[in-house]
Amino acid sequence: MKNRIFHFTFFASILFLLLICQSNSLLAAGPTLLPEQHFYDVKYYGLDLRVDPDTRFIQGYVKIGGEVVQDATSQILLNFYDHMTVDSVQMNGQPLSFTRGADILTIDLPQPLNTGDSFTLQVFYNGYPMQAGLPGYGLIFTSYNGQKLVYSYNWPYYACTWFPCKDHPSDKADSVSLTFTVPDNYHVACNGKLISTNALPNNLIQFKWLTHYPIVSYNISVNIYPFDVVHSSYTSTTSGTFPLEFFLFPTHTPTAQPQLEWIVPRIQEVYEHRYGAFPFASEKYGICESVISGGMEHQTLLIMNYPSFFSDIVVHESAHEYFGNMISIADWGHIWLNEGFATYSEAVYQEYWNGESAYQQEISQNMAGSGEGAIFVYDPSTPGNIIPYSLVYLKASVVLHMLRYVMGDSLFFQMLHDYVTVSPFRFKNIDTGQFRQFCESYYGSDLGWFFNQWIYKDGKMAADFYHYWGVQGDTLYFKIRSKPSTPTSSTYHAMPVPLRISAFMSQFRFANRI
Ligand SMILES: [Zn+2]
Repeated sequence: MKNRIFHFTFFASILFLLLICQSNSLLAAGPTLLPEQHFYDVKYYGLDLRVDPDTRFIQGYVKIGGEVVQDATSQILLNFYDHMTVDSVQMNGQPLSFTRGADILTIDLPQPLNTGDSFTLQVFYNGYPMQAGLPGYGLIFTSYNGQKLVYSYNWPYYACTWFPCKDHPSDKADSVSLTFTVPDNYHVACNGKLISTNALPNNLIQFKWLTHYPIVSYNISVNIYPFDVVHSSYTSTTSGTFPLEFFLFPTHTPTAQPQLEWIVPRIQEVYEHRYGAFPFASEKYGICESVISGGMEHQTLLIMNYPSFFSDIVVHESAHEYFGNMISIADWGHIWLNEGFATYSEAVYQEYWNGESAYQQEISQNMAGSGEGAIFVYDPSTPGNIIPYSLVYLKASVVLHMLRYVMGDSLFFQMLHDYVTVSPFRFKNIDTGQFRQFCESYYGSDLGWFFNQWIYKDGKMAADFYHYWGVQGDTLYFKIRSKPSTPTSSTYHAMPVPLRISAFMSQFRFANRI
C-alpha cells in the first residue's frame, strides 16, 4: 500500500515475496428475475397517475412498451405487489386476461410473440402503496413543516410496490414518461425534463415529465411538495451549458440555493476533468430536497436532505450520475461498481480542490473503516445485505485507490475517462468481470490476481516487515510477509508495496508486488 514506508541505511535491491492467490469463480447474484422475465426487453414506461397526498391513494395506469427476445413468448411477467388493485390490462384497447400472485402480475398475450416483436401494454390500477414492502421503501407519504410530502424511494427493488415494472437494474427502459396529477398547491419533480403543466378542474394540476435517457427502475423518481424551484445553469468545458434545477423546501431556499450554486459547479469541474462530460446534459442536473437519511442518486434528480447539501453527500450522489446511473450494474452483487466509485470520487474531489494530503486523508479514513468481508455481494436478498457500508463503500473505495496505484495515475484516469466517455458500457450495464477486462485492456496484462482477491475474497492486507535480511556484496535482501488480516480470514494478499530506502547520501523508492 502506498503509505507503507520503510527506512534503511544501505544501498539495496529487493527480494520480493510473491504470494499467489487462488482464482475464484463468480457466483450468481439475486434477487433475480423470474426466467420468463428474460423473454422481453423493456423499452418504455409511461406512468399517468393521480396521487392524493392526503388520502395516500393513487390511481391511473402504466403503459409498458417492450420487445420480445424469446420466440413463442405467450406471457409478460411484471413485478407488482399484490396489495395494489389491477382494474384491467389492455393491448391496443383490447382487454387481456391476467393473474396475480407472489407479487407478480402475469399478463396473457392475445397470441404468442416471437423475437423482435414489439408490444405495448397498459395496466390500469389503484391502491394505497406501502401496505407491503419494508418501511421507508416505495412511494412514501409523509410531511414536512406542516405540508404533505410524497416521494419515491424505489431502491433497490421496490418500484414494484407502486407501479408494475420489470424491477431489476439489468433492464433499462430507453425512455420514461411521468405524468402526475396532484392538488394545485403542489409541485411535482421527476426525472428528465418538464414537458408541460396543465391546470385541471377541481383545483388539480398535472405535471408531465419525460426522460429520453436509459434508466433503471429504481431511479424512476417522483417528488410532490410545494417546492421552491430554482433554475440555474452550468457552463461545461466539454458539453456546453446545461440546466441546473433545484427543488427546495421554501424555508431552506435562502441558504440551500447559494450552497448548491457554489458546490455543484465545483463538483462538475472535478468530474469533467477526471471522468468527462456530464452524462445527462440534454435534460438537467437536478437536486430535490427530501427528508430521507442522506441522499439517493435518482437519475437527473438526486434527492437528499438539507444537511447533505453542506456535506460530501452531494459529491457522492453526483458521482452516481456517472457510476450507477449512466453505467449501471448488471446485478446486485456488483454494487461496488456504484458505491465504491462514488465513495472514491469523494477522495478525487478532495484531491482536486485540497491537494494530495486531503486525498490521502480521505483514503486513510476509508481504510480505517473498511470491513473484513468480501466486496462482492453474495447474498443481495435484503437492502441491508446489498450495501454493507464498510465493504461496498469504504473498502471498495480503497481498492480503487489501490488499482490506481497498480495501473499508475495516467493509465488509471485514462481508463476511467474512457469508461465514461467512449466505452461500450455507456448508458448500459456492466459487471465486475467486464470491468476487469476493461482495465486489463489498458493495463496490458492480467489483473485477475487483483480482482479475485480484493473483490471476491474477504480480509484486508496485513504485511509485516521483519528483520530477515542479509547482505551479499552490495545487495540487501529482506522479506515482507503477507498474512491473513484476521485469524478467520483465509486470504493472503498480493499487492505492490511502495518502499523507500534511505542511505546517508541518497534515497530510493521501489514498488513491486508482495
Ligand atoms: Zn452511493
